[in-house]
Amino acid sequence: MKDYEKIWSSVLDKIAPLVSTPCYEIYFSKLNPVAIKDGKLILSASMPSVRNGIMKNFSAPLNMAIRESMEKIEGAVIILEKDIAEYIEEEAAPEEKKEEFNPSMKKINFHKDYTFDNFVIGDSNKYAAAAAKAVAEHPGTNLNPLFIYGAPGLGKTHILHAIGNEILLNNPSLKVYYTTAENFTNDLIYSLRNSNNNELIRQFREKYRNLDVLMIDDVQFLANKNSSQESLFNIFNDLYTAEKQIILSSDRPVKELTIIDERLSSRFASGVVADIQPPAFETRVAILQKKAYQYKISVTPEVINYIAEREKYNIRLMEGMLKTVGYFASLNNRVADSIEFVTEALRESSNNPTNDINIEKITKVTCEYFGIKQTDICGKKKTKELVEPRQMAMYLVTSILPDIPLATIGQFFGGRDHTTVIHARDKIQQRITEDTIYKKRVEDIKNLVLNK
Ligand code: ADP
Ligand code: MG
Repeated sequence: MKDYEKIWSSVLDKIAPLVSTPCYEIYFSKLNPVAIKDGKLILSASMPSVRNGIMKNFSAPLNMAIRESMEKIEGAVIILEKDIAEYIEEEAAPEEKKEEFNPSMKKINFHKDYTFDNFVIGDSNKYAAAAAKAVAEHPGTNLNPLFIYGAPGLGKTHILHAIGNEILLNNPSLKVYYTTAENFTNDLIYSLRNSNNNELIRQFREKYRNLDVLMIDDVQFLANKNSSQESLFNIFNDLYTAEKQIILSSDRPVKELTIIDERLSSRFASGVVADIQPPAFETRVAILQKKAYQYKISVTPEVINYIAEREKYNIRLMEGMLKTVGYFASLNNRVADSIEFVTEALRESSNNPTNDINIEKITKVTCEYFGIKQTDICGKKKTKELVEPRQMAMYLVTSILPDIPLATIGQFFGGRDHTTVIHARDKIQQRITEDTIYKKRVEDIKNLVLNK
């Protein structure tokens, strides 16, 4: 079976439960996979009505199912059977596929702004930052592996990139590779799907094992992914024995990664473990000052203080507010110099494109808060790191928009049943009564939705 045929069969499995049987028969069963081209899955339809029907009614679930099946493929292009020849002719060369999971070729994939210089140190992150700096200076020595954990938006990815930037600056010949646990898994699945091609699997393992530094961001995504855990365990052991540096990040401590293979989690915790906590007011102010300078945003100290007070737990969101304010200031050709201006700017920004609070907006804000993708929150995956934000979003919808039928909410979040929404709502409600910090978190997100 060709790659595109395997992907298509996985897409059909995902689509089948989402659409009615007649729609499936009339539309989806009439499509055939033809090729993968320019990051798109090319499908052919015998009749224009099939193509038009899908594009009009089902393009969102189709593209979502495709991305879930293979992250590197962004969506579908449906062509008519008569046009197949020209697509087949230009089918992607096999060399290109080999490159896709050759980590050493993608050495320079670090965000240029995510450096140590741009990272503000405070009590909340000083230990993690010091460990990261030490690793960057002497990779593969005694701080191995380095495991950094902390809530979303507190700078884990920034630190990983800063290590990468620094190592390559000091020693450009080292093979340093950054990936997310999600991409690691997708690459692995991709090579396993091509199981008739042992060469690809061998390459997958070899390339990782040849690295000097391997960074895997958001390892909580490995929960439930047994083959990824197994594969990472093997790669981990090889790198570790060869004194190569391994750096991991997670949104929770190792012991809470309960579903992870115990052998692997004990490896994770066997080196240096550093956490990042929400920053204190002074650190938040310093971060905002740095970002304002970096993005050339003219704001007064009063405004900086105000933004730092408004968002306490998530630097990504705090930074987002600053950028919004900066954008409005530049539009109006003025300095953001008063709290009135800031509140006005933040209100205005949420008026665009619509000032109505709707289910999409609540979902968008929740996704931003957790740093996850909207396609995932509405997707099928039931991993722990998606379930919590999804339940939170469902809860917020029921709480902010009580008139929306529960079945509609379930449908929106990946065609789920209304009982799932009830369960989510009750669970979050329960947690709010038990845990004051959690309660504050929910209120923060709610305020973001309401005040944006
Ligand atoms: P995480 O990976 O923990 O979810 P990120 O690393 O993506 O968080 O950080 C979110 C944003 O906050 C980034 O733009 C990052 O530059 C910024 N940030 C986080 N911590 C700091 C810090 N201490 N100094 C400067 N910027 C920071
Ligand atoms: Mg991150």
